[in-house]
Parts: sequence; C-alpha cells; structure tokens
Amino acid sequence: MPLEIDVLTLFPPMVEGPIRESIPARIQEQGLAAIRVHDLRRWGLGRHRTVDDYTYGGGAGMVLRADVVAAALADLRRPDSVVILLDPAGEVFRQSVAHALAGSSHLVFLCPRYEGVDDRVRAMCDREISIGDYVLTGGELAALVVIDAVIRLLPGAIDDASTAEESFAAGLLEYPQYTRPAEFDGVSVPHVLVSGHHEQVRQWRLRESLRRTLERRPDLLEGRALTKEEAKLLAEVRSEPRDP
Ligand code: SAM
Repeated sequence: MPLEIDVLTLFPPMVEGPIRESIPARIQEQGLAAIRVHDLRRWGLGRHRTVDDYTYGGGAGMVLRADVVAAALADLRRPDSVVILLDPAGEVFRQSVAHALAGSSHLVFLCPRYEGVDDRVRAMCDREISIGDYVLTGGELAALVVIDAVIRLLPGAIDDASTAEESFAAGLLEYPQYTRPAEFDGVSVPHVLVSGHHEQVRQWRLRESLRRTLERRPDLLEGRALTKEEAKLLAEVRSEPRDP
C-alpha cells in the first residue's frame, strides 16, 4: 500500500513542481507514495472562493478561516489520517518525526500563508510541525521538506544501507566520506579507507561519527545511551590533544 499524501495549499504549482522532479518523482513512479495537491480555494466561500479574512482585534495580514479548513478536512480526512499543520509554533521537525510519519498510511499537510491560521484550526490537526526557528512566507516549502524526508524513508525508496548509516539515523552525525581522487590539493583520503580492512573501516567511521557529533552537535549526545564501544571511542576522542 503506498503512503498517500494530500497537500492543501493556495499555490499548488509550488508543491507540484518539486515533487515531479528527481527522487520524489521516482518514489511515486515506483508506487511507494501517491501525492495529491489540492487548491484550498476549492473549499473557498462565495463567488471569490475566499479562504481568509482580517484578524479580530486588528493587525496586519490575513488569517486562514477555520470554516474553510473544516470543509476541506471533511472531504479529505479518513480514520487513518494524520493531519499536519505547518506552523512556526509547532514541534521542531527531526529525523525521529520523519520516521514516525513514514509509518503512517495517510498524511494531510495544511499549508497556510500570510499571517497563518485561525487558532481554532489547531484543534482540527493531529500534529503541528515547524522546520526551524525562522519564518517562511508560507507552509509549502516546509511541507516539501517534511514530505521529502519522509518518502525517502519508505521501504524500497532508496538503498536501505544509505538511510541506515546517514546522519541522525542512530542519533549521530554521519562520518566523513570521500571519493576519487585519493589525493586532492595536498589532502589525502584517510589511509584506513583504502586499506580494504572492513572492521577497521567500521570502527574508524563510528569514531569519526562520534567526533563530528561531539564537535558540531554535542546536544545530540546528551542523554543518548552509548554502547560500550561508543563510550570507549568517545573517551578516546575526548582525550586526544586539541588543535591549538
Ligand atoms: N504569523 C505567524 C507567526 O508569527 O507565527 C507566521 C506566519 S508565516 C508568514 C505564514 C505561514 O508560513 C505559516 O502559517 C506557516 O504555515 C508557514 N511557516 C512559516 N515559517 C514556518 C516554519 N518555520 N515551519 C513551518 N511552517 C512555517
């Protein structure tokens, strides 16, 4: 059964373009995901298909109406749906959330614009997701980020080995990778990677993964249970003399 995705937006081409291209397109062609994009104006009110209105209490900008969203969800929501509101006040999107969503059968993304949504819309949604602490002009790019991260995790979408070892998969950043030439601009590929010694390569990768995480995202290590091997390698990394 493909993962079914419905996207509600005022700018369908903004979403349709990227999902027609590259890996997302292939994943759909393989039948692993089915993505449908809907113009919110289909549920708009009156002759002008109005979807938003001024904010009570005054202030700049327009707010997406709760009754319009309710009508759209009445048509799209199913018992197995997870309805997602893209919103700067939502939980910050992480790989663990992508994994959770990849296990669903139906996702509905609501992409507001302008000043956002009537607050009563939040009660109609199952999750609120932010893609980071900055403000975009609309939810479309945020929805595309989430969709991209989710569909590449579907079984068979891409080489399982790639997703098993990449950044965040095990709560760590990925180790450094190299390709040809073996020497470039006076910098050589670490010898162990061309040694053909699989066990040493595995251990080097784990150590460098821990090192990179410690240097760049120490927050990821806080509260993470380490295996015996990880704890030993991390202790080694910590005890190494630091570059001046
Ligand atoms: N007035 C809102 C606020 O201060 O939180 C910002 C509205 S923003 C200009 C318009 C829409 O873009 C939002 O309703 C949301 O759908 C989307 N958006 C903006 N930043 C986002 C983020 N970091 N993550 C997810 N969606 C975002």
